[in-house]
Amino acid sequence: MVINLYPWLKDLYKKIILSNIFKRKNFGLIINYNTDLGVDNLVFNIIKWLFCNYKFNFKFCNKCLNCNLLNNNSHPNYFCFKNNKDISLDSVKNINNIFFNNLYISKYKIIYFSNFNFNNKFINNFLLKIIEDCFYNVIIIFSCLNYIKIPNTILSRCYKYIIYSPNENYILNWILNNNKYIKINFSNLKILSSIRISNFSPILSVFLLENLWLLRKFFINNINIIFNKDINKYINLFNNNYLLEYYINWFLYILLDILKFKNINNVYYNIDCINIIKKLSNLLSINKIFLIIDEIFIFLNDFKNYLNLNRNIFYYKFIYNIFYIINF
Ligand SMILES: [Zn+2]
Repeated sequence: MVINLYPWLKDLYKKIILSNIFKRKNFGLIINYNTDLGVDNLVFNIIKWLFCNYKFNFKFCNKCLNCNLLNNNSHPNYFCFKNNKDISLDSVKNINNIFFNNLYISKYKIIYFSNFNFNNKFINNFLLKIIEDCFYNVIIIFSCLNYIKIPNTILSRCYKYIIYSPNENYILNWILNNNKYIKINFSNLKILSSIRISNFSPILSVFLLENLWLLRKFFINNINIIFNKDINKYINLFNNNYLLEYYINWFLYILLDILKFKNINNVYYNIDCINIIKKLSNLLSINKIFLIIDEIFIFLNDFKNYLNLNRNIFYYKFIYNIFYIINF
């Protein structure tokens, strides 16, 4: 049986496991997605199918030793890097020492790099060595947002699959059919807004509706604060906490909608708050909007890439620059 597989992943699941790639010994497998589609879920199902002692067609038994060890997260032939932060030269070398000394109880050894976004020459060379070494029977799986960042030397030894988000009506129906709370409490217009400002990720839009919708409402209802000459008010609006990236994301989609409004393009992201967008479009020039969007991208880039620096530096720089662009 195939458990817990999101419906939009089923076709790709079948395509991958029914392909011939697993007849090879050593190779890499890249699954590239354009937004959060729950690809970990897909990879885990593929690994279960590969390891299962009693698989049949595209199904696995979920009962045998291999299935059980995977379910308990204790399979000696499978290792997962869930987070890029966990990847270091030491941790990868450690895999080489421990993981490869384990006995084979399944046909392959598999290392999975979830949401791979790592650019370290030493680690990449190390991974390349593992893929190239015929002594092992190894598959390295990468899931990532942008496979182009993976070096060509690795890329050329990988099979690559690309998955795109389903269209918004598909996502809307999936949410309505699978989430009673949302179906009862939200209009279709709100659900569609949530899908569009979650970059068409079914998973992120459900998360937004279930957990953050009130915060978003508060943010948008108070967005006029950006025209206030008191910078402290900005700090209330873009609260510097673990949700900061959400606020900035919501702000970006509002700006994009204002641009759309100015160009009389009526396909908006925030379709549940067109009136607010209309009002803002009278107050913000196109020049200012582009300057702010530049600041947002600089901020997001700094925020992600300089993990060792105090993030408050980027936050205050961002707040000050936005304040200055809008009010002066
Ligand atoms: Zn099994």
